Amino acid sequence: MAIQRPKGTQDLLPGTVEQWQYLEETMRCVCREYGYDEIRTPMFEATELFQRGVGQTTDIVKKEMYTFLDKGDRSMTLRPELTASVCRAYVENKLYGQPQPIKLFYIGPMFRYERPQSGRFRQFHQFGVEVLGADQAVVDAEVISLVWDLYKRLGLTKLEVHVNSVGCPVCRPKHRVQLQEFLTTRRDGLCKDCLDRFDRNPLRILDCKNPACQAATIGAPTTRDTLCEDCSTHFEKVLAFLEAAGVVCRVNPRLVRGLDYYTKTAFEVMVEEIGAQSAICGGGRYDGLVEEIGGPPTPGFGFAMGMERILAALQVQHKLPEEKPRVFAMLVALGEKAQIEGFSLMSALRTQSIPVSMDLLNRSLKAQLKAADRQGARYALILGEQELEEKVLLIRDLTLGEQNQVPLRKAVEEINKMYQRGVNA
Ligand code: ATP
Ligand code: MG
Repeated sequence: MAIQRPKGTQDLLPGTVEQWQYLEETMRCVCREYGYDEIRTPMFEATELFQRGVGQTTDIVKKEMYTFLDKGDRSMTLRPELTASVCRAYVENKLYGQPQPIKLFYIGPMFRYERPQSGRFRQFHQFGVEVLGADQAVVDAEVISLVWDLYKRLGLTKLEVHVNSVGCPVCRPKHRVQLQEFLTTRRDGLCKDCLDRFDRNPLRILDCKNPACQAATIGAPTTRDTLCEDCSTHFEKVLAFLEAAGVVCRVNPRLVRGLDYYTKTAFEVMVEEIGAQSAICGGGRYDGLVEEIGGPPTPGFGFAMGMERILAALQVQHKLPEEKPRVFAMLVALGEKAQIEGFSLMSALRTQSIPVSMDLLNRSLKAQLKAADRQGARYALILGEQELEEKVLLIRDLTLGEQNQVPLRKAVEEINKMYQRGVNA
């Protein structure tokens, strides 16, 4: 039996890869304009990094990691996300010694053992940004507006940006107590996961997707009710900056991130029309994370965006660019001698960076012209026995159906002129 790709993974074939490249280029372009630099870290890390950096109580660490022992009996894990890796790299490479803040972005595959479904894969791709070494509210707003600008640039619509503040280690314990008190009489309605969260991490019950848990938390005290003055001022400033940047967002008190090192601002972006997996971006402030993984106390802010889901949204909204024809001209050589002469011509054209290709299967004139058409070539460069004898090249305009002859020795110059005219048109 033929071997198949692992469940939850995808082959990205030509035609689709160009869409990925377009998306990646747009992301890189916006990041460059905002002054963010790309970072690339390993595909796998010591398992402990994610246990500490993502958190033992999260779904990712509890259920979703690809963990294995290497031949040296070290526990390794394929990266399920990149914030922890970026923080590790920041500490390990002493980036805290450079002028702060450090503004980074990444694009790449992540791995989670999940139940594959539409918009949910085992190998998927994230684009993300991390700013390390600045705790100002303007950082939060800058990063969220980068996301906003990217979506604008892509032409994505029907999306909602939700923001909230989850407080900090000073004010969150107060909320935790209030929330537990509120939920005590409603415990029966909670799902198994949330019963488990009740003591360990009650905050997360607020964002459980189970309808019964959502019903049980209606009217529950939110983190916003208990924010300390520092957190409250910070949040007001973030909202003011976002307004100044023209970012339309909604304060959503149910939006939480459950771990101690997540502080203050949290945000998420949802898009309509792509089905149940509508979250395309999630992020927030994590002032305790770098210290958690053994670095100096360092504030951080970042997000991760699911690229498959963005592409799905661009697809349904018809916002993906049309495929451009790849070749400018197709060489149609007939017979072995003409092929050799043509091969030399093609190599000269390629030296001038003119996109040309030729038939590699030695087919008939008709078949070659058909192939030229299929590839979207503007011209066919025809070289048969007669042309070879007369030392000319027949150039056929495939759109207009016209053709003319040029001396073979002048062919490169002529075609280059035509190409430049096309490029500048
Ligand atoms: P979800 O609630 O959909 O499981 P999450 O909270 O696990 O999302 P994050 O860890 O915050 O997601 O990752 C950020 C983004 O990465 C998500 O908003 C989503 O767009 C994308 N993402 C997460 N898991 C997957 C997956 N298995 N397949 C495809 N995209 C994913
Ligand atoms: Mg998940």
